[in-house]
Amino acid sequence: MKKRAFLVGSILIVWTLAALFWPVSLRISRDYSQVILAKDSTFLRVFLNSDKQWCLPPQLDSEIPANLRTAVLTYEDQYFDYHPGVNPIAILRAAYLNAKHQKVVSGGSTITMQVARMMEDEARTLFQKLIEIVLAIRLEAQYSKEEILREYLTHAPYGSNIRGFSAASFRYFEKKPDQLSWAQAATLAVLPNAPGLIFPGKNNEGLKAKRDQLLSKLLAKREIDQETFELSLLEPIPSEIIPFPLAAPHLTERIHLENELPVVYTTIDQSIQYETNFFLKQHAAQLQQMGIMNACALVVNNKTGEVASYVGSQNFDDLENQGRVDGVTSQRSSGSILKPFLYAAAIDEGLILPNTLIKDVPTYFESFSPNNASEQFSGIIPASKALIYSLNIPAVRLLNMYGLTKFYNLLESAGVQTLFRTADDYGLPLILGGSEVTPWDMAKLYSGLAKGGMFSDITYLKGNENESHRLLISSGASNLILEEMKELIRPGLEFYWKRYGNQKPIAWKTGTSYGHKDAWAVGATPDWTIVVWVGNFNGESNKGLSGMRSAGPLLFNILNILPESEDKRWFESDEEDFTEVKICSETGFYANPNCANVELSRVPVNMKPMRICPFHEKRILDESERYIVCSRCWGEHHVEQNVLRYPPDVNYYLWKNGGIVEAIPPHNPKCPVRQERDVLKIIYPLDHANLFVTKDFDGSYQPVVSRLATQFPDREVFWYLDDEFLGSTIRKPSLPLKLKAGAHQLAVVDSEGNRDEVGFSVIIN
Ligand SMILES: [Zn+2]
Ligand SMILES: [Zn+2]
Repeated sequence: MKKRAFLVGSILIVWTLAALFWPVSLRISRDYSQVILAKDSTFLRVFLNSDKQWCLPPQLDSEIPANLRTAVLTYEDQYFDYHPGVNPIAILRAAYLNAKHQKVVSGGSTITMQVARMMEDEARTLFQKLIEIVLAIRLEAQYSKEEILREYLTHAPYGSNIRGFSAASFRYFEKKPDQLSWAQAATLAVLPNAPGLIFPGKNNEGLKAKRDQLLSKLLAKREIDQETFELSLLEPIPSEIIPFPLAAPHLTERIHLENELPVVYTTIDQSIQYETNFFLKQHAAQLQQMGIMNACALVVNNKTGEVASYVGSQNFDDLENQGRVDGVTSQRSSGSILKPFLYAAAIDEGLILPNTLIKDVPTYFESFSPNNASEQFSGIIPASKALIYSLNIPAVRLLNMYGLTKFYNLLESAGVQTLFRTADDYGLPLILGGSEVTPWDMAKLYSGLAKGGMFSDITYLKGNENESHRLLISSGASNLILEEMKELIRPGLEFYWKRYGNQKPIAWKTGTSYGHKDAWAVGATPDWTIVVWVGNFNGESNKGLSGMRSAGPLLFNILNILPESEDKRWFESDEEDFTEVKICSETGFYANPNCANVELSRVPVNMKPMRICPFHEKRILDESERYIVCSRCWGEHHVEQNVLRYPPDVNYYLWKNGGIVEAIPPHNPKCPVRQERDVLKIIYPLDHANLFVTKDFDGSYQPVVSRLATQFPDREVFWYLDDEFLGSTIRKPSLPLKLKAGAHQLAVVDSEGNRDEVGFSVIIN
C-alpha cells in the first residue's frame, strides 16, 4: 500500500515537474510596428503593425527605466519580485471583494497572470482564470522576472491603439522611456489598468486622481521624496496624443516595402533632411507657379557613401500633383549630366586634356546629326569650355572617338542601373540624354568622381559597409575634370554668379533634357554629393525648365546647409597622380616640333599617349612665298614656316564667328606629283546634270540625296554647296541637299585636302 502511494506520489511529482518545465514560449505577439530611425536613432517614421496598432518592437529599449518599473509594480503587483506567478492572498482578497460587491471589482491578477491572459487572449471565465494561473506558474518557472515584466510592458494597452510603454511614452510625452519623469512614469503605470475608461483628453480628472493616488503610495513607500512628490502633482496630464514624426516619407516607404526588419537604422541626418525638405518645398512652390510641379533631391556623404537626406517629391501629401511618386528612383532623361564622365574617361584614354581643342562644327554620324542647344558652332573649342558650355557636338565627337560601347560599359560599372537597351540601340545620343537615369544612380556617379574615380554603391542603411569599390577613372583625370566643373560663371548665370559667387566651391553640372522635360543640377564637394531634379512626374514639358535656372538655385541652397568638414581643402590632388609632359599651348595636344608655344602640363600619370598636335605644321614655300612646294618640286631656295592649320570646316566657322582665317597657298602648279588622284568622287548628282525635283503634298521640295565614293571611308569629308559649308560626314557617303531651282555647285574636300566638285541645275516640277 505504502509502495503504491509512493509510486503514485512519484508519478505525480514527475508529471507536475514535467508540466511545469514543459517549454512554453513567453510570447504575447510578435506583431510590431516597423520603426525606421535616423542616424541619431530618433524616429523618421513608425508604421502601424498589421493589427493597426502602435506597438514598438522591444529591441528599441535596452532597459525598462527604473522609475517606470517601480511605479508599475507599486500599482499593479507589489509582490511581483517574490511571488511564483500567483499571489494567493491577492486572489483571496479579490474573491472576497467580488463576492461582497456582487461583481468583479478586482482581478487579483499578478503581472505574470496578465501576461498569461494576453498570451491566451480568451474571455475571462473562471476556467480561463485557472488556465492563466497554471500558465503563469509555468512562465515563472522558465523565465526571469525581468523577461516577464518586459513582455508585459511591451504589450500593455495604453488607450486608443497604443500598446507598450515605448509607444505610450512617445505618443503621450514625446519622449524616450528613459527620459520619463516620476509623474509621467506614474501616468503610464495606471493607464493599462483601464485603458478604455481613462484616456488622456477624455477623462483627465479621473486619470489625474489615479496618478496622484499612485504618487502618494510611492511617497509612502519612500520611493520618491516629498519634493519630487509635490512637483509631480503639479505636472499636467497629457491632453492629446502626439503623432509619430514623418520624415523622409518616400525613403521610409521604400524601406517598408523592401525590408521586414522591425527596427531599421538609416543614415538619414535629421537636420539635413529637414532643411533639404524645407528648401525643396519652398523652391517647388515658386516652380509650381510656372507649371513645373515636381522636384526631388538627394544628398550623399562622399566619405561614407551614406545618404544624408532623401526628399522624393515636393510634398508627400500633394496628391493632386503626384506627391507620392518617389523622384529619387524615377527614370528620367539624363540631359547633359553624363558628359563629365566622358570627358574624364577621355583624358585617361589620351584623347584630350582640359585645353585640347575639339571640333565644334555640324557633323553627321551616319544618320545622326547633333546640334548645339544654341544652334551656334564655334568651329573649334577647348574640351573644358565644351564641357562647361555643355556643347553637344564636341561631346558626341568625343564619344565617337572614345567608343560608344566602352562608355556604356563604364556607366554600367559606375552604377547606372537603367541602361535597358544595348549600346548600339542608344547610339551616340547616349551622351545627350538618350538614356534614362535615376537621381539615385547619378548620386553614385558624381560621388565616385568626387572620390577620385573610385565608384561604389551608396546606402541609406546604417552599418551597410560597401565592399565593392571600382576604380574606373584615374584620380588625376577626376581631379582635372572636377577643377573645370568648379567654374561658376556660366552662360546665363550672371545673376546667380553674384548671388553665389563668394560661397564655398562646388564642382557642378546642369542638364536640361530634350524637349524641356527634365532639369538637373548635380554637384560634388570633397564631402558631399547633391543631386537636384526638377520637372513634371507626368512627363509634361515646360519651356521654363532649365537645369541652370530651375534646378541650380536649389542645389546652392542645399549646399549652404551642409556642414563643412574640418579641412576645407578642395579635392586633394596627390602629386604622384600626375606627371608632366610637353603640350602645345594653343591646341592642347602633345607638342610636335612645329608647335609655336610649348608648355609643361600636368597629366594623369597613367594617361595613354596622346596624339601629337595635328594643327601645327611646317609649310615649305617657294622663293616667292606664293606656292607650297614639296621635295619633288622645290628649287634651290625655299622658305620654311611653322603654321597653324585647321581643317576647312573649322576655318569656315572661325571665319563666320569673326575670326581671321589665312588662305592656304596653292601647291606649286609645276609639281610633277601633286597629290593623290581620284580619292574622292561625287557620283550623284553628276556633273552638268539637270535634276527634276518634285513638290511634296505640303508644298516643300524633296531633298536631293547626293552620293559620294571615297577610297578612305574613315576620313572626314567636308561638303560645300555653292561655297556655303553644309557640314562634315564620317563613314556616311551621302548627304541630303535642300535645293532651290537654278544652277548649283557641290564640292567635297577630305581632311587630307583631296577634293571633287560638280555643277548641276535643278528644275522644280
Ligand atoms: Zn601645336
Ligand atoms: Zn610638289
